[in-house]
Parts: sequence; C-alpha cells; structure tokens
Amino acid sequence: MAALLVCASLLLHAQKTAMQVVGIMQDGGSPQLGCLKPCCKNNKQREFVSSIALIDSTNQVFHLLDATPDIASQFQLIYQTLPATYKLGSIFLTHAHIGHYTGLQFLGREAMNAAEVPVYVMPRMGAYLTKNGPWSQLVQLKNIQLQPLVQDQTVQLGGFQLTPLLVPHRDEFSETVGFRVKGAGKSLLFIPDIDKWEKWDRQLIAEIEKVDYAFIDGTFFADGEINRPMHEIPHPFISETIRLLDTLPRSIRERVYFTHFNHTNPLLQHTHPDRIRLEKDGYHFATTGTILSL
Ligand SMILES: [Zn+2]
Ligand SMILES: [Zn+2]
Ligand SMILES: [Zn+2]
Repeated sequence: MAALLVCASLLLHAQKTAMQVVGIMQDGGSPQLGCLKPCCKNNKQREFVSSIALIDSTNQVFHLLDATPDIASQFQLIYQTLPATYKLGSIFLTHAHIGHYTGLQFLGREAMNAAEVPVYVMPRMGAYLTKNGPWSQLVQLKNIQLQPLVQDQTVQLGGFQLTPLLVPHRDEFSETVGFRVKGAGKSLLFIPDIDKWEKWDRQLIAEIEKVDYAFIDGTFFADGEINRPMHEIPHPFISETIRLLDTLPRSIRERVYFTHFNHTNPLLQHTHPDRIRLEKDGYHFATTGTILSL
C-alpha cells in the first residue's frame, strides 16, 4: 500500500493535471441503509458514492465533481496522496439527488465552516440551493459561492476546461448535467446519472470518441436486479450499454469506465463471470483510489 501511494504521488507530480476516482457507488452508497442482503450485510468497509477529484498541480488545488455524503472520507483519501498545501478549489454539481450534492452540508458552520468555496451549478440547481434550507444558509453565510453554469458553455479553471452537458434524468428539484473535462493532455466524460441513452439528444458513441476516459452510468447490470418497478428509476443497464458499444474497436471501448453502481449490482464482485468477460472485452469498472493523468 505504501509503495502504491508513493507511485501515485510521483505520478501526480509528473502531471500538470490528473484525476482521482474518489467514489463509485450510486447515491445510497454501500452499505445501503436497511439492506440485509449479502451485498451490504457483510460489507465492513464503506464504498463511497460516485465522485471524481480533478487535480491541478500547477495551481495546487483540486476540484470535485459532485459533493457526496462521503465527502469527509473522500478528502481523507485525496490527502493520502496530495500534500497538505493543496486546497479545495471548487465543486461542480451534476444534480439535486442525494448522492450528488448533500455533501455540501459539511462545508457549513456545523462542520468545516468553509469560506466562499465556488460551487458551479446549473440555473435550477442554483435556485434550489438558494431557496431551501439548510443549503440557503451555506449561501447566506458565504460558506459557498454559487457560480452559474450554462449548458454547453465551457468554464476555464486553471488547468481544466469543464463543459456541462444536459442529460435526461428524473429532474424533480434540478436539471441534470454530466461534464466533459479537458486537462493539460487528456479529457474525461463524467455522466453518473442518465435515464436512457436513447433519450439523450447526443450520441453516446460520438461523445466517447471525443474523450480519453468516459465514466458513465453503470447503476444496474440488468433488468430485474431490484425488487421494485425499475422503470420508476430508469438507468441504462450495463447490458444495454455494451450492446450499443460492442461494434466499436477495442481501443474506443477501453475508454469506458462504468461507475455509480447500485449496491445490488452483481458486477461489483470482481470475480463475477460477466465482469471478467467485459473486462476482457476492454471495458473498465471504476475503482476508488485510481489516479489517471488528464
Ligand atoms: Zn445518482
Ligand atoms: Zn445491499
Ligand atoms: Zn440522480
């Protein structure tokens, strides 16, 4: 483990920009509250909710894609490789479902008492945080400073360029976006939540072809995985996504990293035959802690 961390920090210093996977689970994380099945019951170690840290070595800051309920532990993970001189630069939010923004609460007076952390949000997301407690208090006390995003418009932030891409999702409290991120050398697509690829006004294949890494919705492996009507919580099943992508050359398929796994997803088990088969075909399954140059 120590050797691994030394390698990781060497990699970070060699790169102007990098990314670290700091969580891979659907909003409820794992163990999920109330789950007494083997997927959670025997889970001694928490698996964090999906998030990515963008690391800018030139400016000694990191930015977070989403603020999850596991944000405190995710900070600990980040500082296992980053020197203490690095600061939280900003947070970019995808949408107002619990796994993606409620970590903001720990920036408030009861916890970190952060000062004016820029939080980049789409218009409905910003209005939601401004008008509803406890989030409105973070705005009023200036723990966070909301920064408006406009779909398809790129924000330049130190070594990174971030572009929000609107995606179809259950938009009860906010719209939903994914992000395309360009670093000093490579680029990333991050879409943790989307209802179905067919409902998107973009082509998944074309979007994967534009980037080096595509971290995409892998919530469920297949229909019937949970014991409630799955059309109420639509996601592209991994089994559907691979059907869309299977004709692609392996070099393109290798850019795909499934993430945002529900606790029930059988492919969380590294030894599952379908996971082994998909990994042989070039697909990746996001793993917490992984650092990639960007
Ligand atoms: Zn989610
Ligand atoms: Zn479970
Ligand atoms: Zn969601």
